[in-house]
Amino acid sequence: MISFYPGPSKVYDEMSAYMQDAHKQGVLSINHRSDEFMSLCSETISLLKQKLFIPANYTVLFTTSATECWEIIAQSLIQEKSSHIYNGAFGEKWFQYTHRLNAKTESYGFQSDELLNPRKLIFSDSDLICVTQNETSNGTQVSNAIIGGIRKKNSQALVAVDATSSMGGIELQFKNADVWFASVQKCFGLPAGLAIMVCSPSAIQRMNLINERAHYNSLVLMKEMIEKYQTMCTPNVLSIYLLNRVLKKVKTIDAVHEVLTKRTRNWRKFFSKQNTLQLLTKNDRVLSDTVLCMQGNASIIQQIKTEARKAGFVLGEGYGEFKSTTLRIANFPALKDKEIKSLKDFLKKIL
Ligand SMILES: *Cc1c(COP(=O)(O)O)cnc(C)c1O
Repeated sequence: MISFYPGPSKVYDEMSAYMQDAHKQGVLSINHRSDEFMSLCSETISLLKQKLFIPANYTVLFTTSATECWEIIAQSLIQEKSSHIYNGAFGEKWFQYTHRLNAKTESYGFQSDELLNPRKLIFSDSDLICVTQNETSNGTQVSNAIIGGIRKKNSQALVAVDATSSMGGIELQFKNADVWFASVQKCFGLPAGLAIMVCSPSAIQRMNLINERAHYNSLVLMKEMIEKYQTMCTPNVLSIYLLNRVLKKVKTIDAVHEVLTKRTRNWRKFFSKQNTLQLLTKNDRVLSDTVLCMQGNASIIQQIKTEARKAGFVLGEGYGEFKSTTLRIANFPALKDKEIKSLKDFLKKIL
């Protein structure tokens, strides 16, 4: 089975060997306060900075999931209130999680075909603006330039970006925002259970100003620990090790970005030659490079998903309101050209 589900998705083929190495090298039993762990942690953070082009003065931390990052941000970085800009189910969930912790939080919805205009996105009474860079539920994305524009127009606010289904796949301009996060079961080609959070110097300043210390995952406490290359609780050491191995193997993000955007263009060309499935979003300028969301008649969608499983492919279910009328296809780096070709050959027969 090859999983094209947009997370959890196909893991790198080397995963089995990496896991065996972890066992053989004793990584599964190392103490999280030991020198071995601290050097693994330190090296992995350096590799993240080096391969993803994260600015040297940004702080990288480990958490368990993107969902945990939503709560850390709400607890440790909001002074009065946040504003959430979203056009789909994941952005909405982020808003709802934050709203439960902060009743003043506001939402700003937009259409999935709509290209955001930063000049119209001024939230002068908010101190944190939340953007879902890649909306996994409908296959749309917000560009680096728009994120930078939002930050410029709202200089009083921090900008936090959910890049869960794009970090490690496309080149993100980390300097254009203050908080970035992603879990590893999407573009990093790893099993679930770890997430990466990246904070700018302004985010660290805000964190210190608020100085929230009421939770085990208070950002101030996490920052104190990561300065020693440690974590608050016993972390998923295996996952950090696997991330380390994957990062050593992958090319720098500019090269990965080029491969993925070329593949997306080819996917769009492929689907433009048939009439059974259409892209859910018609505006080329907002289409995601890492998740394709195809719409069609519910019974055909169901048939394609079922036949695909029989042929050895897992396709992504539709999400939320699009559950039965769409299917999603991951365009993540761990998928190989020949696997994409075999999925296309299968689809050619059925469409
Ligand atoms: C998958 C996903 C999440 C949730 O990730 P978890 O690791 O399950 O918390 C959040 N946001 C986006 C955009 C996602 O694609």
